Amino acid sequence: MKKKVKNFIWSRKFIKESKEKLFKLRASLPVKFYHGANVSNSTGDYIQNTERTKMAFNCRDNKDSAYMQDAWDRTGDCRDCTELIVGVMSYEIQGVEAPHRTIVARSCFGTITDSCYCDMCFSAQDCFGCFGLKQKQYCILNKQYSKEEYFKLKEKIIEHMRKTKEWGEYFPSSLSPFAYNESMAQDYFPLTKDEALTKGYPWYDRPARDYKITLFTKDLPESINNVEGNITTEVIQCATQNDVDQKGEYSLCTTAFNITSLELTLYKKMKIPLPEKCFPCRRQDRFVFRNPRKLWHRKCMKNGCENEFETSYAPNCPEIVYCADCYKKEVY
Ligand SMILES: [Zn+2]
Ligand SMILES: [Zn+2]
Repeated sequence: MKKKVKNFIWSRKFIKESKEKLFKLRASLPVKFYHGANVSNSTGDYIQNTERTKMAFNCRDNKDSAYMQDAWDRTGDCRDCTELIVGVMSYEIQGVEAPHRTIVARSCFGTITDSCYCDMCFSAQDCFGCFGLKQKQYCILNKQYSKEEYFKLKEKIIEHMRKTKEWGEYFPSSLSPFAYNESMAQDYFPLTKDEALTKGYPWYDRPARDYKITLFTKDLPESINNVEGNITTEVIQCATQNDVDQKGEYSLCTTAFNITSLELTLYKKMKIPLPEKCFPCRRQDRFVFRNPRKLWHRKCMKNGCENEFETSYAPNCPEIVYCADCYKKEVY
């Protein structure tokens, strides 16, 4: 059997039919209201070993926290954080390895302790509004102060920020080096250009693509066996461009793509056909399998069960959504 699988040549037609069968089968089976396990008194999705945590998405080992995304390990008493590993009593954090009692920080490495509004710092303690510092303490706007001066000035700044209503808020979107539609925010919370601009978020207008297509989707080889050696020189049309309905949704579509020789080696090794969509469209296709980072209050769909829960399966989604008990009875 192993040998048979190893030598199997995947054809485009076979993959398409298999996917259709799989989706049909999936649609007939119930799903648990969240992905994950070992969760108590918590809400969210893709969560594991989570206690007393609200609105956690893609999180592991979180306790007593709320509004968390991608927090990977031993995080407690945190709120409004995205991408951290070990977090302790921190707030409004993004991409920080280990924030401890820290308010607003972005892309910092090592442990950041008792600091506020720091960016790209490497292990800092008692720093305020600093950028790119390494193992520093008692700095404000990258300037070194004595311990006494630091705490005096820090209180003054906080007092000012309270008046301007900036204290406790994350860095304003106007300081973002990326436009809204270039960031992952667009994946999870998509906005139209008008909506983004109305909210004051920067938007990036991609230049129009005008590739000279040399290989159309309809002419792509059925399996990797039929691929000619010169495929890496072809400008291949993205299949999304054939579908008028999908074109609008796939705003990141590059309209055409190349196959690199490294990719070709991989496809040959795996015996899978060439892709028919550009990279952003392939990514988008995978992304739709993830549930949104949003919750709806729903009731278990098992007849006779009155259990209710918060779930990322929208009320109009095709899945049969069960509570944990009913799912367990059905599946195990
Ligand atoms: Zn595309
Ligand atoms: Zn139930």
